[in-house]
Amino acid sequence: MATMASNTVESPPVTPPNRCDEAAVLWGLGPMGEWLHHAITSGFVGHGWVFKGQDVPGMYRLSMVLAKVLNCSEPIEPGVACGQCRDCRWADANAHPALLTLCRYTFLDDKTFKEVTGSKARNKKTIGVKQLGAVLGNVAMRSDYTRVVILTDVDMVPVKEKGHLSEATLGHIPAPAELTEWATKKNTTFVPASLSPAVFAAEPANKLLKTLEEPPPRCLFVFLTDDEQNLMDTITSRCQQLAFTAPPQAALAAPVADSGALDALLDTLWEGLPPTTNMDDLYQQLFEAAGTSPDWALVLAYWQQRWGQQWRQQASTATKSQVQYFNKRLQALEDARLQIKSYVHTEATLRQLLFALCHEI
Ligand SMILES: [Zn+2]
Repeated sequence: MATMASNTVESPPVTPPNRCDEAAVLWGLGPMGEWLHHAITSGFVGHGWVFKGQDVPGMYRLSMVLAKVLNCSEPIEPGVACGQCRDCRWADANAHPALLTLCRYTFLDDKTFKEVTGSKARNKKTIGVKQLGAVLGNVAMRSDYTRVVILTDVDMVPVKEKGHLSEATLGHIPAPAELTEWATKKNTTFVPASLSPAVFAAEPANKLLKTLEEPPPRCLFVFLTDDEQNLMDTITSRCQQLAFTAPPQAALAAPVADSGALDALLDTLWEGLPPTTNMDDLYQQLFEAAGTSPDWALVLAYWQQRWGQQWRQQASTATKSQVQYFNKRLQALEDARLQIKSYVHTEATLRQLLFALCHEI
């Protein structure tokens, strides 16, 4: 990530008005957010990005937010969408004409859908050349918008098994009405998933190469994958690659309706508590602050975001040992989040994390 490291970004004047706004999403990602914000505000967006990370729904959501920021007609400041204008509302609903998702189930309109798929759409295994052609035809048309084409795979996930996935990241993949109805009947939902060679094969990838080499103006392709090896070298070499280690979905929203108590506790933990702290009391406080039957993976993702913001405010003046200290704490948090996401025993993981924060780090 040499490009990121060498990027110098002005200290941001951002105190997000609410946790769901675009600034929070961008800034919640630390250096990555700075890089993205800088790319947008300086006009050097380029034409191809590879988003690499485990949290594909989160990266999908982030891509949508970027499309919104790039197309807001009345931005609050450069790189911060207003959230109110027609373009923002369209983007929020994933219905913006400049925001296109290309996955094996999506098509531009009913006609193309029928032409391309016939009756086999439901079993469609790959992104087809004709599908890609339809998208390329669309972006070749002149437009005042910055077109954002998100290439992703989708899983159809039983609603009852969606588990740790945030509600806000689900159901965003636009699919033909027929398929959506079918999915609803089967009690399943579309969830963004990593591109793989099987889904995005060489033929459509090669067809896309020419466009990546000579892109139409103001057109950005975003590839979502958990491993860049899933994409052809000829694609990745023409794109800016961004690796996400923190979960973009962390920046979506507070996990509880009234997050005041949780915020206060997380801030106290950030400041640090002495080893003499009663661990049972602390665990109880956390448990109560997180509300009834919380999604703990989401709570920890939110926790990361909150600490990320604290860190941003202090990073420029921190000493080297403080940097190490906070990085260790953020790493412990990330480890705990991943464990909980993998269904490792939640209470034990949380107690271990609290103990580590008070005693070891
Ligand atoms: Zn707007």
